[in-house]
Amino acid sequence: MYKLLVLLFISLFLFIKLRLIKSKNKRKFKTYKYIIKEYKKIVKKYENFTSISTLGYSIKKNKIYMIQICDSKFNNIPSTRIIFNIHGDETTGARLGILFLNFLCYEYYKFKQGTKTKLNSRIANLIKNTNLCFVPSMNPDNLFKKRNNIKNKDLNRDFILKKNYKFQPETKTIINNTNNEDYYFLLDIDCHDGAHLLCYPYDKKKIESLDENNFNYISKQYIEYNKNIKNNPSPSRFQKGYIMGSKWYKINGGIRDWMYIKNSLLGITIEFNPIKNPSDNIVKKLYNQNKDALLHYLELTLNSYRGIIIDSNGNPINNAGIYVYNYENSLVSLKKYTNKNGFFAIILAPGSYKIKIIKENYLDYIQNITIDEFQHNIKVKNKKIIMSFL
Ligand SMILES: [Zn+2]
Repeated sequence: MYKLLVLLFISLFLFIKLRLIKSKNKRKFKTYKYIIKEYKKIVKKYENFTSISTLGYSIKKNKIYMIQICDSKFNNIPSTRIIFNIHGDETTGARLGILFLNFLCYEYYKFKQGTKTKLNSRIANLIKNTNLCFVPSMNPDNLFKKRNNIKNKDLNRDFILKKNYKFQPETKTIINNTNNEDYYFLLDIDCHDGAHLLCYPYDKKKIESLDENNFNYISKQYIEYNKNIKNNPSPSRFQKGYIMGSKWYKINGGIRDWMYIKNSLLGITIEFNPIKNPSDNIVKKLYNQNKDALLHYLELTLNSYRGIIIDSNGNPINNAGIYVYNYENSLVSLKKYTNKNGFFAIILAPGSYKIKIIKENYLDYIQNITIDEFQHNIKVKNKKIIMSFL
């Protein structure tokens, strides 16, 4: 009898322990379909200020979606984009994105209801002055399955800067989205697993870009709000927690280089976690570690130099070139252009600069500007710049 009781007790103990291990390693969502269902649920719940659209299709004709969160009175606002997943087996981003989207929407909803807090006032300022764009995955065919797309192409090697190169449909979808004149992409993120680190361009060559100072600034801003990466980078030799991608290892055809070189779009790569496809508990932990950093990073768009360029008749000037110099007269930013509405925005590290705007048949516009340190609840306004005819 005694032996039987001991045996029963041991079995019960093992059963509970196994259940605990199982719940610890649980993954609630294991397919693209269920991930998207979750994103759609949030969009439906907060339909007054969110929307979902199809950007394009994967090889297997899965839809590549983009969710937008925006409640702006401005006609012209910059867009900020997070691509939560590129490599199918690196699933943290796509799952963490659900929690982050829900957090932003819930806080903004409370703000609109009149329950105002410091945090939701910050989020309101962001949602009113920026168009936040979330792409849950650009590799839907192989999310939770494999790194590459189903043609076994690594999508983060497919942004090849060569004429007549034939892109994978998933890559083409993201390129078309970036080139779409309805958006003015100002800041970008692409998410990965496999390390604990931030990277910025260049990924292909080991030379500093014109925006080296600005890339350092945006990376540092992120890392200051996620001390976990700063204090525990992996590979551990990158002690600051962020690095120019090519100094880690060189890649050709990465998304970051393309976005920077072709679209003057600044952004960082986030490596959330050394282990790919972690359990739900780890994703939750990573979300808590990255939430403030992601929010703060997105808020940097509020501190950008932004405005509308018009002629003396009030008509917008399209395609005016904007150059930024330091006081030694060296360029410190890749050339930017106004869009069809004359709108532009530039992310710059705090400091003093000289701006030069050039357009055929117009007098050059030159102005000294100062970018202050970022402060929460900064008042955002589009600067009006009038260019005179020659
Ligand atoms: Zn990756």
